[in-house]
Amino acid sequence: APSPIDRDRFYAEATFHGPLLAGITAFDAVGEDFIRGRVHGTQPSTWTPTTDRAAFAVDPLALDSAMQLAASVAWTRYHRAGTPVGIDRIEVYDLVPPHIEIDVDARFGPPDGNRFRADLTLRSRTGAPLLRATGVTAELRQAAENAEADDTAPSDGIAPEASDVSLWPEVVAIQNRIAEVAAAGIPNPYFHVHEGMARNTTVVAGRRLINFSSYNYLGLSGDPDVLAATHAAIERYGTSVSASRVASGERPFHGELEALLARAQGAEDAILFTAGHATNVTTIGHLFGPEDLILHDEYIHDSAFQGIKLSGAQRRMFRHEDTAHLDKQLTDLRKHYRRCLIVVEGVYSMDGDICDLPAYVALKKKHHALLMVDEAHSFGIVGATGRGVAEHYGIDGREVDIWMGTISKSLSSCGGWIAASKPLIQLLRYTAPGFVYSAGLTAANGVAALASLKKMLAEPWRVRRLQDNASLFQRTCAERGLDTGPARGGTGVVPVITGNSVHAMLLSASLREQGINVQPIVYPAVPDDAARLRFFLSSTHTDAELIETATRVADTLAAIRAAHPMVSAAK
Ligand code: PMP
Repeated sequence: APSPIDRDRFYAEATFHGPLLAGITAFDAVGEDFIRGRVHGTQPSTWTPTTDRAAFAVDPLALDSAMQLAASVAWTRYHRAGTPVGIDRIEVYDLVPPHIEIDVDARFGPPDGNRFRADLTLRSRTGAPLLRATGVTAELRQAAENAEADDTAPSDGIAPEASDVSLWPEVVAIQNRIAEVAAAGIPNPYFHVHEGMARNTTVVAGRRLINFSSYNYLGLSGDPDVLAATHAAIERYGTSVSASRVASGERPFHGELEALLARAQGAEDAILFTAGHATNVTTIGHLFGPEDLILHDEYIHDSAFQGIKLSGAQRRMFRHEDTAHLDKQLTDLRKHYRRCLIVVEGVYSMDGDICDLPAYVALKKKHHALLMVDEAHSFGIVGATGRGVAEHYGIDGREVDIWMGTISKSLSSCGGWIAASKPLIQLLRYTAPGFVYSAGLTAANGVAALASLKKMLAEPWRVRRLQDNASLFQRTCAERGLDTGPARGGTGVVPVITGNSVHAMLLSASLREQGINVQPIVYPAVPDDAARLRFFLSSTHTDAELIETATRVADTLAAIRAAHPMVSAAK
């Protein structure tokens, strides 16, 4: 019979294997006592970039992937994990050619309690034998009904790992991923300590680096006027506003910032929250319920996704910026639900592309739906004066039902807001859990954002400079042959797509050595073949910094590709 197993689901749901170990390319057929599929091998330099060994005697990826293929039967047939515990014998007939599909045939012996044995044969696509592993033994994980046999298991049949966090599969999975990166000789790209302000440059470990991993789009974090206003506010109001604003009252900057944000978005009113992420979670989670339908772009941010899950509404995704796909789903589904919400982002945070706002406004009207736009990466970034996608398209802000934004990016602070009609904001003010039961925004955060917003509106050259910088950088990268995805410049994000996670991590590490700080975005945050470096631009970058960076990225990526040729593991 053809195999019922889907490769992508297998790697997403059934195993802990990261992109380097995802060597199965196809499941072909499965029967009572066999499974057949295809895998690929690798070469030493993919795993240890500094090695000069040309080939493995026994290709670990091909062998491991053949064992994964055999173990997949434990998952589909018994809904349990199969862990390899031994191999009797390995015979090598020929080297496995790296990155080329080969056939695997796994024959199972009769099951022996919790143990399974299989013989694996790996052949080239022309049928030439490459490797044979006999007596490959796997153990099914202890099931609850057998727990009494284990004296460390409680007698009620609960597996010991349920109460030992260090044994949780997700804990082990993250440890394995970190170890995989370290084993490949790549320094951990996360949690660098910046020793001062992060602007066009930053200081990490005593070295000044050109910086592309800040949200300081308009250079307002560290701006002397913003700092002075914030110092004065802390002197006056202290560093806490006590409990929630409902319980402990407000300070003047709360109302002033909300009014200015509402005006800038072209909405009637606004409400502040203490984190952008919490703003989406609590707002969507609170306003919608199981009788409702929420449709969102496939690239929507995690915060909106978590809010949708919390709401219990029926969730449907549409392909990125595919308004025909959205229209079709609305036509089919809208009538079965009470309320319907469409969620999109003004500018997408991974690719820096701008949403087709006029098309979404037309669709929400056609289908009696509500439209929510997340302006995290568009407010302060697009539009002639930075007032976001409504200004960019010349659309009245009231055409959008729910504007969401964060003050952590262009407004140089930390927190989020919703701007909408007066009744909706009033409802949130009295009932949204993340507002009513959470402490109010502090003076430091509120006044930093207020001073930044005033400055942004008074000095539109900052927005223009950011847009020009992004365009210059995107253009220069493209001229140097780099793939910047759908980004056309003019927003604050420019990706450089490397096509696999290993190259992205090596590129980021090498650029840091050369004095450039930019984060890699790798599997599973994006599919492996969409792995990238994500450049956050700032109005404070100089032309020279942007041109030098584009040149170094192109040269370094070419050198990495030549030294470490590899195919994408995911596709
Ligand atoms: N929405 C989007 C699109 C984002 O990119 C982010 C954060 N990067 C958030 C919401 C959450 O905002 P914050 O980081 O201010 O919590």
